[in-house]
Amino acid sequence: MILELKGIYKDYQQGKMTVPVLKDVNFSMEEGEYVAIMGPSGSGKSTLLHILGALDRYDEGDYFLDGQDMNQCSDKELAKIRNDSIGLVMQDFALLGDKTVIFNVMLPMFFDHTPFKDMKRLAEIALQETGISNLKNKKVNQLSGGQKQRVSIARAIVKRPMLILADEPTGALDSKTGIEIMDMLSNLNKEGITIIVVTHDRDI
Ligand code: ADP
Ligand code: MG
Repeated sequence: MILELKGIYKDYQQGKMTVPVLKDVNFSMEEGEYVAIMGPSGSGKSTLLHILGALDRYDEGDYFLDGQDMNQCSDKELAKIRNDSIGLVMQDFALLGDKTVIFNVMLPMFFDHTPFKDMKRLAEIALQETGISNLKNKKVNQLSGGQKQRVSIARAIVKRPMLILADEPTGALDSKTGIEIMDMLSNLNKEGITIIVVTHDRDI
């Protein structure tokens, strides 16, 4: 099993109100699986993805990732797991718009003392895999939505994560570009990466 959630609860505090969002969420995944999480807007999909991605903590329950009890991890350990093992693809891309494509893709490696030469080489491989080598020196804010999504996928895979989490990765794209992005995720899954995609598109 690559990940397991047991009895996960998460509330948000809105003023004096406690808003329960996740209530007893249980599921597990085997390595190499590819699943979609579906549900209407506001049902807690992003909240769940943030917990899975170690970006956020939960109130109750257990989350094991690759055998590790995430409750027992310090913030620093969670940051390391996030950086080494998880590739995040966010709906709003979460890129640095005034920086170049290759800079954005190298970013996850700035935190772990990878030599610059290796950073550049690994980023170039990821750009090749996502079909955007020709854009490497362009600033991100000069790109189309589909190109930005490719940059965020390149950044997500540059460190060969075991898990990719994608939050509505096609939500902001036209349908043809959306299909290309989904094909790219399928290919990464065929290479053995476990993938979770949040969507409300039944076709996906
Ligand atoms: P989804 O991704 O399925 O649309 P979210 O996980 O973003 O749903 O949100 C689930 C619920 O939690 C919504 O009611 C939302 O308003 C609330 N919520 C999300 N983030 C916060 C937050 N940081 N503070 C308070 N409430 C939040
Ligand atoms: Mg959401």
